[in-house]
This record gives sequence, structure tokens and C-alpha cells, in this order.
Amino acid sequence: MSSIAENIQRIQNTLPANTALIAVSKMKPVDAIAEAYQAGQHAFGENRAMEMAVKRSQLPEDIQWHFVGHLQSNKVKYIVSFVHLVHSVDSEHLLDVINREGQKGKRVIDCLLQFYIAQEETKFGFTMEEAETMLQKKKFLQLKNIRLCGVMGMASLTDNSAQIQREFQTLKQHFDYLKEKYFAEESSFKEISMGMTDDYSIAIAEGSTMVRIGSAIFGERVKSE
Ligand SMILES: *Cc1c(COP(=O)(O)O)cnc(C)c1O
Repeated sequence: MSSIAENIQRIQNTLPANTALIAVSKMKPVDAIAEAYQAGQHAFGENRAMEMAVKRSQLPEDIQWHFVGHLQSNKVKYIVSFVHLVHSVDSEHLLDVINREGQKGKRVIDCLLQFYIAQEETKFGFTMEEAETMLQKKKFLQLKNIRLCGVMGMASLTDNSAQIQREFQTLKQHFDYLKEKYFAEESSFKEISMGMTDDYSIAIAEGSTMVRIGSAIFGERVKSE
């Protein structure tokens, strides 16, 4: 079995210069994160707010913490003071809550809009229609404590790589459309978070700027998510 450091190195070697690696450390112990950190990995992804807050308190301060799972609005308060990027904003209500908590803590929180691109009922995210309805509201412009930096999506869990490719292409099109129509002047709107252990090479080919990789770095998780 290869070490965490070797896994990171192997993956880094396949990533284009403009694609960031987010090491998804959910359910993995602090020791494993420390090992990855020592190998030069400074961006980690978690999908539970409390777990992320506890791990953060035990690890170096310059780690960038990325929230990558469905975030319940009553948990925002646990991470709002330090989270680097919330990848998974999947409702207007959640965006409102992040803004409100950000205001309390005097921070602007970077967020991605999660889009529903898979053919699975279980996945979260906006449709383009829902996203546009939100973006066109006057109220949206008053959310001063969030900054939208791009989009995120999860492909279907399938062996059909043509289907995965189509889903990632859809996300890229969503990004291009939003960029042109709403964010042309905003240089910070630039991220397309797509690609996990089983599909990240397809995601890179389709224009991913951030891959979120867990098992290929830390090994299989005991319980599936
Ligand atoms: C768990 C998870 C990942 C990483 O999954 P792997 O298949 O282990 O690479 C990426 N993104 C999200 C949203 C996740 O929940």
C-alpha cells in the first residue's frame, strides 16, 4: 500500500497547474491529515461542521478548510469564523444564513453554488432556473457577507463515463453562462469544483479548477457516505 504522501504526489503529478487539489479528509483521523499536511497538502475538505471545527482546533492554523457536503443552516455557526470556501451552497436559505453569520463575525464568506447535474434523486443542488431566480432578486445584491466564487457539482455514481462526462460538461456550461450573465466583472468568480476519486480525470478534461479527492489519498472510508 502506498503512503498518503505518495498518493498526494501521484495525484498532483496528473493535475494541470490551474487545478487545485482538495484532500477530502471526512471520517479520517487528525493523524492522517497531519501526515498529508507534512507532505505539503494544505487544503482539506470535510462534510460535517462539528467534525471540521474539532479537527481544525487540533491542526496547524494555516490549513484551508473547505466545506464540501450538505450544510445544515443551524451548523453554519460552527465553521463561519474560519472556513475557506463553502463548496456546497444548495439553497437560498443557506446562503442567507451564511451571510447573516458572516455579518456577525465580520467576515465575507467565499461560496460556490452547487448544481444538480446527476441523474440521482439523492443529490443536492440548484437547477439553473432556481439559481437565476435567486440571482435576479434585489435582495441578493444586499448579501454583503458572501462572495460567490463559482460552481460545484457531483456526477452520477455510475461506470458510464460518457454520462459522467456529459454531466461535467453541463456544469461547465452553467459556469460559463453565469460568468457571462452575472459575474463578468468579478474576477473572483472563477472556480468549477468537480471531480472525485473515481471521476477526477474526466472532470479535469472538462475544465475542473478544483478536484475533491478522498479515498485515493487516505484509503477507503469504513462507512460509505
Ligand atoms: C466524500 C466526498 C468527496 C470525496 O470522495 P472520494 O470518492 O473519496 O474521492 C468529494 N466531494 C464530496 C462532496 C464528498 O462528500
